[in-house]
Amino acid sequence: EEQNSNVPDGPISWKKSPCRFCGVGCGLLIGLANGKAVAVKGDPKSPVNKGLCCVKGYHSVMSLYGEDRLTKPLVRKNGRMVETSMEEALDLVADKMKETIAKYGKDSVSLYGSGQWTIPDGYVASKLMKGGIGTNNLEANARLCMASAVTGFISSFGMDEPMGCYDDIDHANVFVLWGNNMAEMHPVLFSRILDNRLKRGNVKVIDLATRTTRTSVAADRSILFKPQGDLAIANAICYEIIQNGWVNRKFVESHCTFKQGKSNIGYGLEDKFKFKDEAKNISFEEFKHFLNDYKPENVEDLTGVSAKDIKYLASLFGDPNKKVMSLWCMGANQHTRGTWINNLIYNIHLLTGKISEPGNGPFSLTGQPSACGTVREVGTLTHKLPHGVVANEKDRKMAAEIWQVPVENIPAKPSYHTVEMFRALDRGDIRFMWIQVTNPLVTMPKLNRYKAATEKEDRFIVVSDVYPTPTTEIADVILPSAMWIEREGMYGNSERRTQHFEQMLEPPGEAMSDTWQLIEVGRRLGYEKLFPWSQETHIEEIWKEYTRFHKGKKHGMASYEVLKDQPGVQWPFVDGKETKWRFNGKYDPACKDGGFDFYGKPEGKAWIWVRPYEAPPESPDNDFPFWLNTGRVLEHWHTGSMTRRVPVLHRAVPHSYVELNPDDATKLNIRTGDKVKLVSRRGEIVLPASVNQRAQPTRGQVFVPFFDEALLINQLTLDAFCPISKQPDYKKCAVRVEKV
Ligand code: SF4
Repeated sequence: EEQNSNVPDGPISWKKSPCRFCGVGCGLLIGLANGKAVAVKGDPKSPVNKGLCCVKGYHSVMSLYGEDRLTKPLVRKNGRMVETSMEEALDLVADKMKETIAKYGKDSVSLYGSGQWTIPDGYVASKLMKGGIGTNNLEANARLCMASAVTGFISSFGMDEPMGCYDDIDHANVFVLWGNNMAEMHPVLFSRILDNRLKRGNVKVIDLATRTTRTSVAADRSILFKPQGDLAIANAICYEIIQNGWVNRKFVESHCTFKQGKSNIGYGLEDKFKFKDEAKNISFEEFKHFLNDYKPENVEDLTGVSAKDIKYLASLFGDPNKKVMSLWCMGANQHTRGTWINNLIYNIHLLTGKISEPGNGPFSLTGQPSACGTVREVGTLTHKLPHGVVANEKDRKMAAEIWQVPVENIPAKPSYHTVEMFRALDRGDIRFMWIQVTNPLVTMPKLNRYKAATEKEDRFIVVSDVYPTPTTEIADVILPSAMWIEREGMYGNSERRTQHFEQMLEPPGEAMSDTWQLIEVGRRLGYEKLFPWSQETHIEEIWKEYTRFHKGKKHGMASYEVLKDQPGVQWPFVDGKETKWRFNGKYDPACKDGGFDFYGKPEGKAWIWVRPYEAPPESPDNDFPFWLNTGRVLEHWHTGSMTRRVPVLHRAVPHSYVELNPDDATKLNIRTGDKVKLVSRRGEIVLPASVNQRAQPTRGQVFVPFFDEALLINQLTLDAFCPISKQPDYKKCAVRVEKV
């Protein structure tokens, strides 16, 4: 009904855009008529999805037209939000920033964005905070979803982002999914895997997870493991590979170095947590000796996986006739040892030499449409700069030169990562926070603590968004944002592909792009010279300036003209060609001598790490006997603030629920639809039970999706994080389950 009412009488014109939602980055064709987006189809020319979409993609344009779109700025007066003009709201934001800096110093103001920022949004954010104000108080919600992937890449290869691409799927025979419910989270890529299995026949999909999902049902083999057991499984696979002589010795001797990191590294639960990793050289023999603790028979209890299954997994990696892809996302990254599990998956691929060639590769997927483009490449994190890090003098000098600011203006020391930033707000070290394109009052772990921080006296919170959310509820100023194709921009997807989209629609009311909001406030703060661009051409001008950071065979980016013309381009873009596989001289022109060259590391050698099993900070006990795992569902994007405005998606999954294993449910006398209270040491929530419906946790575990803004599951989660990446663990804490 809703779709039919949108069908226009006149002709429809079609324009290309990447999807607004997940990190797969499907190419869409948007149907436009009478000044409205009225239809969507998959772009058959897009190499990402070849014409296919998932249910969110097909309904994506309907998320522009929710009845409660924010169209006017609102400011808090005497406790009530009242409408004002955009000019006045922007003046107020700039005045409040100036006042806070004058009173408490430049490190008392902060900007918190997201992997849903466009690349120009992120670039301007970085220039404003680091080049203008001179603070590193810039973070993005990608810290909560893929920071461990970044630190995993950097520690193993010295450079960020996957070496392979989606075309690997068309060559691999084995897909090992590490805690990755791809059928729901990356559905178009999962379809590509299943298509390959159907067409080629010699394809196996192994789902390695802590719960049975739609992915497990479609997989050839589902192997369930105990939470945190993945660390021991990966080490046990390496043990088997070595014991059976499956190590690709030539590859390892030529291209790898063995390293020992620090152990017992803590969980970041202290307010001001300090950590420094180390990387000692060790020999292959010492690495082999470390693995003696991970004989498959010895880790069955720890992992919940039989030695037979671990040996089977090892044999897939060890078979020289098989091409193997490992794929993972939040299951590995949202982990108190997130960096370590990333390193361990790389260890397996490096030992067997199954890396960076068509069909062989470890592939870390992202969740948000521009987590790679905006956060990892532009560098909208406290320690980063566009294509560099603040701690590196050369990188600071390059930023200072391009931005034409004194190099001393860019602080060399990283400031707060996301969890610390909210702790600093709690303490009063931060007094002003501007939040754009994200919803931390739904997504922060241990939510009640950080919500209370935002509500404290003398904290000023600005929120830019497209719909009211729990985060806009605590705002002092709400700025209405232009959404997706209501403005021009670029996103960068999981396979290093940058995709441009033009402005196709007028934003409603006074809504303004996040890029232009930042520029307007920057100019009001006195940084006119940093933002000399015109409103008509600023995206092109920003892209041209930004690509000055990315030069050469290792990092080159396509020009604005190429991006406008193509359905996305993979970087490094060298001599008019994209690079599909990095570090392999057959495909990557940056490799010395045409062979493998992990050029991010000294001597071009990747690092194989000793990373032991360590228990999580909180495990079930007598008082809280269940594991709690949280995540997403196919129909809803992120916190649901957009997809819940699409009636058909809302009707499909109208509210959150708790999934229980049937055996646990029987013991507790709980049936589907019964009200269940979940209690952790940090909070409690009542929600309906779902037993044996779309997915099933293992015994002793419950799963709750986080898209429902009325049932905030993060009141229960723990704010422990990986000490290396600083990414919190949303996949395991202890809860009690009570029938209401
Ligand atoms: Fe959009 Fe992701 Fe679905 Fe593709 S798989 S249509 S990018 S939500």
